[in-house]
Amino acid sequence: MKRILVCDDSDFVRKFIKRELEGFYEMEIFTDGLAAYEFLKHDKDFDFAVIDGEMPNMNGWELIRKMKGDLELERLPSVILTASDDDYFKGLAFDLGVFDYMKKPFKSGDLLKYLNSFFKGNINKGVVLVVEDSKLQNHTISQQLNLKHIKPISVYSGEEAIETLLKGETVDTILLDLHLSGASGFQIAKALKKDSRYGYIPIIGITAASDRVRTEMMKEAFESGVDDFISKPYNIIEFSARIMAGIKRGKLVRKFKEESELDYLTKLYNRRTLFRMLNHLFSSSLRYKNKLSFLMIDIDHFKTVNDTYGHFMGDEVLKSLAHTLVSSIRNSDISGRFGGEEFCVILPHTDINNASIAAEKIRKNVEKETIKIDNQEISITISIGVSSMQGGDNIDTFIKRADDALYEAKESGRNRVCYYDKERGIAAFNK
Ligand code: GH3
Ligand code: MG
Ligand code: MG
Ligand code: MG
Repeated sequence: MKRILVCDDSDFVRKFIKRELEGFYEMEIFTDGLAAYEFLKHDKDFDFAVIDGEMPNMNGWELIRKMKGDLELERLPSVILTASDDDYFKGLAFDLGVFDYMKKPFKSGDLLKYLNSFFKGNINKGVVLVVEDSKLQNHTISQQLNLKHIKPISVYSGEEAIETLLKGETVDTILLDLHLSGASGFQIAKALKKDSRYGYIPIIGITAASDRVRTEMMKEAFESGVDDFISKPYNIIEFSARIMAGIKRGKLVRKFKEESELDYLTKLYNRRTLFRMLNHLFSSSLRYKNKLSFLMIDIDHFKTVNDTYGHFMGDEVLKSLAHTLVSSIRNSDISGRFGGEEFCVILPHTDINNASIAAEKIRKNVEKETIKIDNQEISITISIGVSSMQGGDNIDTFIKRADDALYEAKESGRNRVCYYDKERGIAAFNK
């Protein structure tokens, strides 16, 4: 059972909370901050704290300051109870890393519902990258997101944010502190928006700037690509509403992006995306004198598969081939569907010999794979043409040589790899 610290000087409120949570949560109840503080020195084993703001001896604000300070309980989620809706107190609560702010009196059932929702932990509404350099505030924000069933990924600098995205984490919205140390929030926003891989992810800037400079900040932030704003101290309802809107937008745009970049059937890159990537890799390989190879792959007698088993099965075979293709190559290689039953692979930093070895590995894996669908077993073979970038190439000549090699592989009997090399011309790769 989760254990809750309750601290309130009002008899009525203590009884109210006790009655409400009894049987669902274990409680340790105190009448003032000092008593709770003394207890916490010896026993810190709590999952949540509900603390009244105004109390004799030591008030709730001071207790929380000590909890987050010398008691090192900065991760213990705490809610402060207060009768005042004053902005000053909201600001204070925020600065102290208080998780939420509950206005008294609350209705029967509210607190229980709140805690149940907090501990339920099915965090599936979306993923938010929290870029905030203050550990305390980062924890607070993450806990607030958890409460709303949103998964937080905490990072403490802009550089770390970019690393996380590069690792391939799926992120629906970025919550960005605009006052980061290191690279500023504005710089990070600009860098992210320029990158076609992440530019679509909505960025919500967090600022604590006073009203006087807020307009200026907002202007600069919007110009840097920030999509929305939350000003500290914020209200948790507005906070989660803005974040949910960001998540919805992020998911929708990702879906459109995937639909336009991927082939609908195999989920490999489509032809347009392949050309975009090839263009980029071709120029950078030229500039930095790196090797670059290209495989053109075509299924042998695929028309017969369609004619024998039907178009639906043909589609399943294409999906299965895509899977074998991806699992046969390195993560740094790029595979795609060129069109119809033609696929291709781009191999950065790879010469003609190693590209032919990679091609042969793919060919063998496809050959030994049996595709089982509805009690039927289908085997296919593929032919592959290999080319490597050489002096005087442009993208068209580079692809054309792979195409010519593929033609030769077909002509000379199929189920084989042929390469096209400057010195040796077109030749079969010796198995
Ligand atoms: P080869 O060994 O010379 O390559 O013979 P092939 O039969 O594979 O070549 P051909 O170009 O004559 O036929 C390609 C076939 O691929 C015909 C076409 O219906 C089929 N095809 C192309 N796209 C799809 C698709 O998306 N789904 C299915 N099921 N079949 C497709
Ligand atoms: Mg900060
Ligand atoms: Mg074909
Ligand atoms: Mg074919």
